[in-house]
Amino acid sequence: MDGTMICVSLCAGNGPDVRAGMEEARKAGADLVEVRADFLHDRNEIRGILEGKPLPVLVTLRSAREGGRFEGTDDELFSFLENAASAGADLVDVEWRRSRSFSRGNSRVVLSFHDPAGTPEDLSDICARMQPLPGDLVKVAVRARGTSDLLRLLALPKPAILVAMGEFGEPLRILYGRYGGAMTFASLREGEETAPGQLSISRLVEEYRVREIDAETRIYGVMGNPVSHSRSPELFNRVFRHLGVNARYVRIPLDDPSLFRKGVNALDLSGVSVTLPHKSALVAALDEFDPAVAEMGAVNTVVVRDGRLRGFNTDAPGAVEAIREAASRRSPRGISVEKALVLGAGGVARAVAWGLLKEGTRVVIANRTLDRAEKLAAELGCDFLPWERRGDDAPKIVVNATRMGMEGTESPFPAERWREEMIVLDAVYTPRWTPFLREAKAAGAETVDGVALFLRQANLQCLRFLGRPIPPELLQGFESA
Ligand code: NAP
Repeated sequence: MDGTMICVSLCAGNGPDVRAGMEEARKAGADLVEVRADFLHDRNEIRGILEGKPLPVLVTLRSAREGGRFEGTDDELFSFLENAASAGADLVDVEWRRSRSFSRGNSRVVLSFHDPAGTPEDLSDICARMQPLPGDLVKVAVRARGTSDLLRLLALPKPAILVAMGEFGEPLRILYGRYGGAMTFASLREGEETAPGQLSISRLVEEYRVREIDAETRIYGVMGNPVSHSRSPELFNRVFRHLGVNARYVRIPLDDPSLFRKGVNALDLSGVSVTLPHKSALVAALDEFDPAVAEMGAVNTVVVRDGRLRGFNTDAPGAVEAIREAASRRSPRGISVEKALVLGAGGVARAVAWGLLKEGTRVVIANRTLDRAEKLAAELGCDFLPWERRGDDAPKIVVNATRMGMEGTESPFPAERWREEMIVLDAVYTPRWTPFLREAKAAGAETVDGVALFLRQANLQCLRFLGRPIPPELLQGFESA
């Protein structure tokens, strides 16, 4: 078969549930299933499970030291694997550290190494020492604890199956086929993962279309820390599919901004959305930038051409456009005559404040850490306020550019200070309805949620990435979802 095979890993405790899982996996588009026999209450059920299987089956009895539940002896392990092979298992998993010769019948072997705790320093040596027989597949599955682990894994001579567990490994789970990988593992449903960071089959098939990824597929991603809240993969993968562009968009957690360029090169990225907390720090990593990026000191879009990184900022025009439109629903005066309070002093606050100042709006910055508000205000040439006084003189426009609200509990603005004539923008978009927006709306203010900002800046980003905007029907579908 061409492309990456998707193997759904099943961890049910009894034969009927495993068989039901196999059928469901087949319908969901799996190429094969892994039966995790260490989860079976009665391992003798393996023969019945393999009888009449709807898909090829990999049988695995994972040892406790490699992250599974099997605590038995080597004799028990190999007697079970021989039984599974004679019952028709297409593949059997043999842990390299326990491997010995056994009667494998017609089964192929997946010779595996797992480290659920981390990425061992001597992983290259381990890979070199794993000696597969002809036809065997080598599987290496380790936990990527940070961006540097992911980069080390990308630099390895590529085994047939390379699994990077944990959120830092997600790009590899999706993209490994692009680097020649034979197989990726999926859970049957969200919440039924057999290893940390495993994605569900529906996401691999529908959102990421991993089987169609090939050496020509262009890769884009959102880099920041955290990135789990980002809806950019959902949006851009829909756009690529809709436009018939051979590209995918993934989440790439970046815990150390100094690894940015290495990450871009190692993953062969064509473009990056930069997110918190790196929007300012990564300006220094660019080769070229739009003059606006230099002026405001924040980048959220990087386009890679011939190995050179070119930075843009779409947050600033996206936010100004959204605020201008909301203001025009209330009054024709425009926003140049107004005063705006920008809460926060991070990358988004910087971009929004800069954009509003360019419009002629008077801007005041308030931030939890006073020094950062003072520094940003000095750099942009505007006023600042201590955080405690942010509600004192509430201006017409109020923007939340802090992370407050991402937990869905706190608002950065005092509820009693909202007034009906205010124009309010929240940059937070997961969740969509934050306490900040709910309270502003309850007071009658004109509100713009983070999704509206997200879509505006993503549309401008799409122009940079692909040279064309997001089709309006996709924008509308996303907005109303
Ligand atoms: P950032 O550079 O990390 O800045 C975070 C800001 O939040 C800082 O000003 C920080 O204050 C403040 N903050 C964090 N926790 C706080 C708390 N508990 N109380 C008060 N202030 C707190 O982040 P960013 O890149 O500017 O992003 C800011 C927000 O915008 C995030 O929620 C992000 O998800 C969202 N965002 C939305 C879009 C969109 O399209 N809708 C695009 C990008 C980002 P200190 O300086 O005191 O730490």
